[in-house]
Amino acid sequence: MDEKRLREELANFGRRILGSGLAVGPGGNISARCAEKMLISPSGLSFEEVLPEDYVAVDLGSGAVLSEGRPSSEVAMHRAIYLAREDVNAVVHVHPPFVIGVTSGGGSIEPMFPDFVALIKRVATLPYILPCTERLAQAVKEAVQNAEAVVLLNHGAITVGATLKEAFYRAQILEEAAKITTIARLFGSPRVLSREEQEELLGLEAERYRQSVLKRT
Ligand SMILES: [Zn+2]
Repeated sequence: MDEKRLREELANFGRRILGSGLAVGPGGNISARCAEKMLISPSGLSFEEVLPEDYVAVDLGSGAVLSEGRPSSEVAMHRAIYLAREDVNAVVHVHPPFVIGVTSGGGSIEPMFPDFVALIKRVATLPYILPCTERLAQAVKEAVQNAEAVVLLNHGAITVGATLKEAFYRAQILEEAAKITTIARLFGSPRVLSREEQEELLGLEAERYRQSVLKRT
């Protein structure tokens, strides 16, 4: 995908993140890999006011800022993920209220419905680490090696994907799972899908097709 289209897509998904309640105010940041660099949301602005041209280009190798503007304060975390995972082309970092609420209350996000199983194989959870630090970037880099979603306790979540769409859907599904967990707890003990039920879902041809579609740009 060329840079112009990728910038438009970033602005579009930024607005969808706000619309989905995954972040409020100037919270959250997103990025996409663009050849040897990444395009990342600028610091301090709400997604509703960020234009395609405002996304800041950062060299993945050196970390040098290549365009106008100041990149998100979580720039080190985004860069670390791209350096650790060659298959990742998009990173979504949000502050979803149910994910933060459930996990800071001692709960965990478990597979309870088919879309979760299809899109998220593993959720990693990190303890609270001061945002915007190299320490957080390094911890996320480790955690994301075997996970599509990382919960940052008392802070938010990160999802990654082969495309922005995939990373965004994973953030939505993580928040949906936290909402469903909350509702299930009101009624009793949440029933989590067994390993066998998960394997069965992943074996469906229909699910494999849906997953392949999400990776198309
Ligand atoms: Zn954050």
